[in-house]
Amino acid sequence: MTLALSIPKFDCMDHQGGCHCGNIRVRLALSKPPEDNPLRACTCSFCRSHNPRMVADPGGLFEVWADDWSLVENYRFGTQTCDFLICRRCGVFIAAVSEMAAGLRAVVNANCLIDRERFKSVAAVHDFDGETIETRLSRRAANWMPAIIRR
Ligand SMILES: [Zn+2]
Repeated sequence: MTLALSIPKFDCMDHQGGCHCGNIRVRLALSKPPEDNPLRACTCSFCRSHNPRMVADPGGLFEVWADDWSLVENYRFGTQTCDFLICRRCGVFIAAVSEMAAGLRAVVNANCLIDRERFKSVAAVHDFDGETIETRLSRRAANWMPAIIRR
C-alpha cells in the first residue's frame, strides 16, 4: 500500500496579516491547510474580552515585525509567563509569545490574518484555570509554535 501524501500548495500554508493600522505585520507558515488547523480559545478574561481564535502549529513558524515597536504593547497578566502583543494604536491583539527553554514560542490570533475566513474550525474553548506553572509551560512547549520577533 502506498501512502498518498498530498502536498498542499505553498499559498495555502503561508499566511500574512497584521494589525488594523498596519504597524504590526506577521507571517505565519503552517504545515497544514488552514481548515485543518484546530483553533483554540481559553476562558481567561483577556480571551473572553477579545474573543480571539488562536492557532499554533509546532511544525510551522510565526514571524512578527513592526514599523514602530514603541507602538507595540507587550501585555502581561496572571502568571506573567508570556507577552500578549497588542497594537497600541489600533488595539488589535496579534499573538501571545513566550520565551521557553527551546526558544521563542507563540500562539497566533487567526483573526489578524488577511485570509482569516479560511480558518473555518470552531474555536474549542479550554479552561486553563488552576493549571500549575510547570504544567502550563510544558503544555506550551508541546503545542505552541516557533516564533521570530524581527526588531
Ligand atoms: Zn495597529
